[in-house]
Amino acid sequence: MPVPFSGGCRCGAVRYEVSAEPMAAYLCHCRGCQYESAGGPSVVVMVPRAAFKLTGTPKGHTTISDSGYPSTRRFCSECGTPVFGEPSVAPEIVMLRAGAMDDPSWIRPAATIWVSQAQPWAPMAPDLPRYDGNPPL
Ligand SMILES: [Zn+2]
Ligand SMILES: [Zn+2]
Repeated sequence: MPVPFSGGCRCGAVRYEVSAEPMAAYLCHCRGCQYESAGGPSVVVMVPRAAFKLTGTPKGHTTISDSGYPSTRRFCSECGTPVFGEPSVAPEIVMLRAGAMDDPSWIRPAATIWVSQAQPWAPMAPDLPRYDGNPPL
């Protein structure tokens, strides 16, 4: 894996660098992710916050997630790109959106999660384990 790696929004106002390997990556079909992905899964990449260096000031929107705790989605206020999420239940991690990485090609999702909220037409990765909600830690 290319570490460190970098990413940011489409217009460049929000940038980040990560100095550690991702802890995990998932295809997330939760309803909240569908707003970011335009319907299918979001590809979320878990990294330690201590290894995440942000430049720029993304806007945030906080909702109560389906797991029952507040979760903040961070996006660029100029171009609207979803960049990362901050689950309040796990302040030590940041959930990157793979699409905003400079090179998302090397990400290997480990599982499909929140299958219970997937749209009936949503494509499902055939070879990955599926979980109705969050994956077991
Ligand atoms: Zn932007
Ligand atoms: Zn999700």
